[in-house]
Amino acid sequence: MTDPYLTLVTSPLTKGLARRIGLPRPAPLARFRPGQPLLAGPALVVSGPASAADADAVAQALVGWDVDVRRHPTPGTSYAAVVVVLTGLTHPGELSDPVLAAGATLRSLARGGRVVTVSRASTAEVAPAVAAARQGVDGLLRSLAKELRGGATGNGIVLADGVGADAPSALGALRFFLSTRSAFVSGQLLAVDADAGAPPADWDVPLAGRVAVVTGAARGIGAAIAATLARDGATVVAVDVPAAGEALAAVANRARGTALQLDVTAPDAGRRILEHALARHGGLDIVIHNAGILRDKLLVNMKPERWDAVLAVNVAAQLRINTELLTSGEFTRAPRIVSLASTSGIAGNRGQTNYAASKGGVIGMVRATAPLLTAFGGTANAVAPGFIETEMTARMPFAQREIARRANSLLQGGRPEDVAETVAFLAAPQSGGIVGQVLRVCGQNLVGA
Ligand code: NAD
Repeated sequence: MTDPYLTLVTSPLTKGLARRIGLPRPAPLARFRPGQPLLAGPALVVSGPASAADADAVAQALVGWDVDVRRHPTPGTSYAAVVVVLTGLTHPGELSDPVLAAGATLRSLARGGRVVTVSRASTAEVAPAVAAARQGVDGLLRSLAKELRGGATGNGIVLADGVGADAPSALGALRFFLSTRSAFVSGQLLAVDADAGAPPADWDVPLAGRVAVVTGAARGIGAAIAATLARDGATVVAVDVPAAGEALAAVANRARGTALQLDVTAPDAGRRILEHALARHGGLDIVIHNAGILRDKLLVNMKPERWDAVLAVNVAAQLRINTELLTSGEFTRAPRIVSLASTSGIAGNRGQTNYAASKGGVIGMVRATAPLLTAFGGTANAVAPGFIETEMTARMPFAQREIARRANSLLQGGRPEDVAETVAFLAAPQSGGIVGQVLRVCGQNLVGA
């Protein structure tokens, strides 16, 4: 899928003209390539005095990942990343020093730079001033992400009380947000609720030894997920409808996995997935519920079959498969469920009441499924893509597509790989403390952001 506008404003021949006439200029985003260093330049870690111990822990982790870490801003230095540690806030007045220190470095933030806040959850259990300071980070981060340019992103990690800044999932999230794996994730605050999970033995293949099923894998986002999980070391079972058999076989071959032709709405879909994974690969650890369909219509014109088909594929099938897996006694090795939601399921979208009901349903489903998995060290989470360049979105009418594509802080659509990287991150062993969450991959979509 191509974006001719992005080519126009970035190609050497036409970019000068685009600048002169004042066209908005999306920056090409750097994507992850194996072997790439985590950051291409130094990282600055700043904090207030009450957060200094957590900032030390963060800095130490970065040093362990071969990052050039600085603790004090130096004028003229171009940082690849700025990490603002705000875990010890007790009053909104304490935001100014660390936040303004970080702000002063942003003019020289590298292209594709990263800003990450680390803070604590604002709950009704803490004092009002503490809650105000903590919730302030949310507003600050979302606004800052809208100010960044040059393909830079801003994201936040929100720790529950009692979870350390060096908890496996806190550091795992930090690494993800710093890396090019999160190129199209911006303006997001990800909750880390437990000190669970473990760093992988090898960060290059975090999914080594794991067996993963991906539904709807014959094309689009599902095909990218299959390839990304395989790259990260997983053995992949690619599932799609029989009609997509040829494309499915090609995806499975590229991933050096196996193909299973199956309609996920079949009553025995869960059992067939499990039987295939056990027989061919000796177990099942990760399920990615990606298969999904659209049948858009205004509710006033909605036929029952359009409503029912979307709910059946997008959410009811996931519920049935999960029940089968959870009651089988075979899905117990720190299992991971990652479901594809959508920003439509959060913000709503005209003509998509059925789709948004199904995707909102997925968000509710993972929240209530996650506790059923904690006894096994398991998690359930959702990924909500915004506008992603796929065959599905290529079929949208031109004007509608162009508006949807640009209405985010990065001024462009994401790629299937961007969603796949986020899915792989949530499926990884270090993400065991991220439970029942929804992480948006939408370039900070301005609708419902
Ligand atoms: P796509 O239409 O390109 O691919 C979907 C795949 O699912 C197809 O291969 C299809 O054959 C398969 N599938 C459909 N029904 C199935 C069934 N009953 N059983 C098994 N397989 C089935 O879609 P995509 O753009 O790659 O989207 C993938 C997921 O991401 C979907 O859940 C979609 O709702 C979600 N999503 C996509 C976007 C986007 O911008 N493309 C945005 C938000 C969410």
